[in-house]
Amino acid sequence: MATDCLFCKIIAGQLPASVVYRDEQIIAIRDIHPVGPTHVLVMPIRHIRSMAEAVEADLGLIGALHLAATHVARQEGLERGYRLVTNTGRDGGQTVDHLHVHLIGGRAMHWPPG
Ligand code: AMP
Ligand code: ZN
Repeated sequence: MATDCLFCKIIAGQLPASVVYRDEQIIAIRDIHPVGPTHVLVMPIRHIRSMAEAVEADLGLIGALHLAATHVARQEGLERGYRLVTNTGRDGGQTVDHLHVHLIGGRAMHWPPG
């Protein structure tokens, strides 16, 4: 756990969150500022700053992260489709430095993103 990390604090139960999925490796919480009817953040329980810091040894974890996102998408009834987004670094729009995948759905998405 990174002591100064918002998501590590949520994972440790030190801050409240609406948890929609949890297993040994992965947790998913509702985003506090949803940009769609469904907006869930899916993240590894272990602190990894971003995809830019992921290494070969994280291969299984990265796969588990994305499979968990598809599991939550089914759980949320998003059979019409959804978007998975991983903002990475400052130019990528990442504001919380704990790797997470945004699962956004329940409305039609636009392309290209801003
Ligand atoms: P990003 O900008 O890609 O790093 O995404 C961070 C996300 O975390 C944003 O969509 C925020 O709305 C969300 N967020 C920030 N604080 C919290 C919180 N306490 N609980 C749930 N989501 C949060
Ligand atoms: Zn963290």
